[in-house]
Amino acid sequence: MLSRAEAEERLAVLAAFASESYESHREREALETALELYAALEDMVWQFADRIDNPPRLGTMGLSALEGAFETLGWDDPHTPEEVVQCAYPGCNRWATGAVNQKWTCHEHYAALAEEGK
Ligand SMILES: [Zn+2]
Repeated sequence: MLSRAEAEERLAVLAAFASESYESHREREALETALELYAALEDMVWQFADRIDNPPRLGTMGLSALEGAFETLGWDDPHTPEEVVQCAYPGCNRWATGAVNQKWTCHEHYAALAEEGK
């Protein structure tokens, strides 16, 4: 099975041709389907994976379904996402769990960041 990056790369190569054969059309469709499945899997992992703080990462908690998903996505466990929504409080290295005064915040710093806006 192609990794997500390999599928994206191959799709870009196919897209570079102005016209396409029946075979390349079928291959492009298969690659697009694979990328949709990767995206759906990643959405599910973001919803169900454990959020680990200091620094913010995603982990499987040893759950086999998540371990399989991480492996399919090519992620280490724990995985450091390219973009994380982190608490804005200075020095805090936790996942944000909400927002106040247009700043992301963790539970512990919600009150402090709310006070800043007064
Ligand atoms: Zn915080």
